[in-house]
Amino acid sequence: MKTQRIAVIPGDGIGNEVMPEGLRVVAAAAAKFDLPLSFQRFDWANCDYWQRTGRMMPDDWFAQLQDFDAIYFGAVGWPALVPDHISLWGSLLRFRREFDQYVNLRPVRLMPGVPCPLANKQPGDIDFYVVRENTEGEYSAVGGRMYEGTERETVLQESIFTRKGTDRILKYAFELANSRPRKLLTAATKSNGIAISMPWWDERVAAMAANYPEVSWDKQHIDILCARFVLQPERFDVVVGSNLFGDILSDLGPACAGTIGIAPSANLNPERRFPSLFEPVHGSAPDIYGRNIANPIGMIWSGAMMLDFLGNGNERYTAAHDAILRAIEATIADGPRTPDMGGTADTTAVGTAIAAAL
Ligand code: ATP
Ligand code: MG
Repeated sequence: MKTQRIAVIPGDGIGNEVMPEGLRVVAAAAAKFDLPLSFQRFDWANCDYWQRTGRMMPDDWFAQLQDFDAIYFGAVGWPALVPDHISLWGSLLRFRREFDQYVNLRPVRLMPGVPCPLANKQPGDIDFYVVRENTEGEYSAVGGRMYEGTERETVLQESIFTRKGTDRILKYAFELANSRPRKLLTAATKSNGIAISMPWWDERVAAMAANYPEVSWDKQHIDILCARFVLQPERFDVVVGSNLFGDILSDLGPACAGTIGIAPSANLNPERRFPSLFEPVHGSAPDIYGRNIANPIGMIWSGAMMLDFLGNGNERYTAAHDAILRAIEATIADGPRTPDMGGTADTTAVGTAIAAAL
């Protein structure tokens, strides 16, 4: 079996505290399931590097990373030192764009023992994926201001939906739905209000659905869809949205399933032409950095997603993913827990417990 090469980028703040725990658990899984992995650490794409060099990354960052199979990423951003638009656009958003990581994937699952902010929901009621388009759509820089400073001042902001960009994210989402027991897909839309792009998006959804006769699908307007995330999360299995709608849903979903400290994410180039990137949903959390109290579970769960993706169906990798999730569940249920989950344990204790539970 080919050795999977993993680039490790801890980044800023608590990225440096949770990364060792992610690596501890991934390494334990690799040992247990005999997975050939290699790791190389990069101490750039962080704000200290920016302070020293005036850049977030070296000029040859693309060449340095492009032959890796995955990037395991902590967090980036230290607003007291570097404005977020510089640190983010200088690192993470370049990876997403230039490595064509067009799928942003976030599992939303209520684990036993996690306090759920929704009333009357049990583990099992919330278990779905949000699939967000990550490269085009509403997030464009096409447009501008006219008649500035006058009463006629007008601002235009274009959305760009290509058939290639839309069909590939829909295909990914339908494939994912087709691989799951319930085979349900919901497409976010707003074709009753956004009169050009969204009716076309709906047409592409219907066209893609024709290739997946076993998948039951529907489309829901983003407003009612948000309401249903909160009221009836058990309805969902795979939810796909454009860049903007997916962005909203991929924060709302994990919020419905508990603390941000446990939520994982993947930025995928499914064709594997470029490395895919795996990172916790949370940021660098300057407010708690330096005390070793950050919850490492988002980092660890992201590591499990990384192994699942790297295995590409290989049963040892799939088993490693499943075993890490069971170890996370056991540790959430029995402790130790970090303060954000009502416990008193530190980051290292939680990572060590999950590795031991494996
Ligand atoms: P982003 O960098 O993604 O824009 P942000 O800077 O707005 O995010 P975070 O850094 O994620 O936000 O922090 C938001 C809040 O959540 C902070 O109060 C932080 O302490 C808390 N938090 C974030 N991650 C964790 C974690 N792993 N464990 C415990 N608390 C966390
Ligand atoms: Mg931040």
